[in-house]
Amino acid sequence: MSKILIIEDEEAIADLEKDYLELSGFQVAIENRGDVGLKKALEEDYDLFILDLMLPEVDGFEICREIRNQKNTPIIMVSAKKDDIDKIRGLGLGADDYMTKPFSPSELVARVKAHLARYERLIGTGVQENDIIEIRGLKIDKTARRVWINGEEKNFTTKEFDLLTFLAQNPNRVFTKDELFKEIWAMESIGDIATVTVHIKKIREKIEFNTAKPQYIETIWGVGYRFKV
Ligand code: CA
Repeated sequence: MSKILIIEDEEAIADLEKDYLELSGFQVAIENRGDVGLKKALEEDYDLFILDLMLPEVDGFEICREIRNQKNTPIIMVSAKKDDIDKIRGLGLGADDYMTKPFSPSELVARVKAHLARYERLIGTGVQENDIIEIRGLKIDKTARRVWINGEEKNFTTKEFDLLTFLAQNPNRVFTKDELFKEIWAMESIGDIATVTVHIKKIREKIEFNTAKPQYIETIWGVGYRFKV
């Protein structure tokens, strides 16, 4: 049974949406506050989100952005103002659909079904929009060349990104500095294996909570480095 989270502060609307969705066989939860809704959306497993724009504490813009940083789950955004819908579209926050209130509940149900079917096809075929590596709190989007640690995006130079990605793609294998240098800097004559050490240090500063006790890239003394899974 598909699970849906409605983040909506107008209780009458939320209840109406819930009733119709439940009649169609969905399991539905409601959150009235933005901050609580966001937390729930990130921590629990849902198959689809129905997200109101104007919400107490954290608004729908921010919630949509945060969910998209971590999940590909379909998001339907709703707002009472047509202008707002145009604005969200323009921002490209990654919502899958937009509806202006008031809408008919049956229209909502139809769209929910369509997005769930599309998403299931996507998952089912193993096709991902972007090539993503996720290890504990670390997320690397290889396609977009972006990195997040616990949902917060970090900026990486080209070589830092290449080195981190190479290690994360080959977990639990020890690489010498020489091997890493050849792998990442192969075509360039600049630098030497000390460059590897410098880059590892910079990467750790960005992804490790405590660089003295790295939880991702381990130093194997006298040998090199290993990405720990
Ligand atoms: Ca609202």
